[in-house]
Amino acid sequence: MDKIQVKGLKVFAHHGVYPEESAQGQDFFVNVCLYTDTRPAGIADDLEQSVDYGELSMFIDRYMKEHTYKLLESVTENLAREILLRYPKAVSVKISVSKPHAPIPLPFEEVSVSIERSFHEAYIGFGSNVGDREEYIRKGLETLENESDIFLLRTSTIIETEPYGGVEMDPVLNGVVKIKTLLTPYELLAVLNRIEAEAKRDRAVHWGPRSLDLDILFYDKLILEDEYLTIPHIDMKNRTFVLEPMAEIAPGFVHPVYGKTMADMLNELKEKG
Ligand code: AMP
Repeated sequence: MDKIQVKGLKVFAHHGVYPEESAQGQDFFVNVCLYTDTRPAGIADDLEQSVDYGELSMFIDRYMKEHTYKLLESVTENLAREILLRYPKAVSVKISVSKPHAPIPLPFEEVSVSIERSFHEAYIGFGSNVGDREEYIRKGLETLENESDIFLLRTSTIIETEPYGGVEMDPVLNGVVKIKTLLTPYELLAVLNRIEAEAKRDRAVHWGPRSLDLDILFYDKLILEDEYLTIPHIDMKNRTFVLEPMAEIAPGFVHPVYGKTMADMLNELKEKG
């Protein structure tokens, strides 16, 4: 991928664990690399279609001066987040911040922290089958949208399906929402669990009634299985209530395990009857 880089940007700021560091301040050096498609700007010779590296440098300087963190880790983490939010053309950002005058009582060149961060795309399945089902879903999606590091991109039509798993229950309202997020899968799961808890979800009966159920269906092309998370979400190929909304909003999305599109998986499920 194309990149726009600024190297060795010197910023005087007040970050550090020791009180004298935040009081007196010191020089920091920033290397930043934005991964972005520069071709449209290159062809049009138009700054509007690119990321203005002068503005980016001034932004970094301002941000580092206006905030005070104890750790270089926090400086880099917050800078990366702010840069991704400010420059939507950046697919990802690599950033390193060094501190040549760090308080180390030995000769050394510099200390630095380097990270790479990007937005991730995820699909969240939602369902409700007790009480005011539309309201649980509306409220849940609204809460999701208000999370600072989650952006809703597309929401499917809400469909009504028969409950899954052989327990006597009312029909379920289901759908899928596509999001863009800076959260890791585990952080995302924690947010979903919190929103479910807020909807007073009754976990007493497995497969039982649920005011709001939120599942991570996909997270980029990640394949993950541990005690907390299974991504892609399990048993999708047998679940119309997942495949139908997925095929509506992302028919060409390829399941990273089966290598089939959502549209094909839905057709296969329908053919099976
Ligand atoms: P359930 O109530 O059946 O939706 O299960 C919720 C629990 O399933 C969560 O607390 C997670 O630890 C676990 N889980 C495993 N994989 C996923 C996933 N992809 N999305 C959401 N929860 C998951």
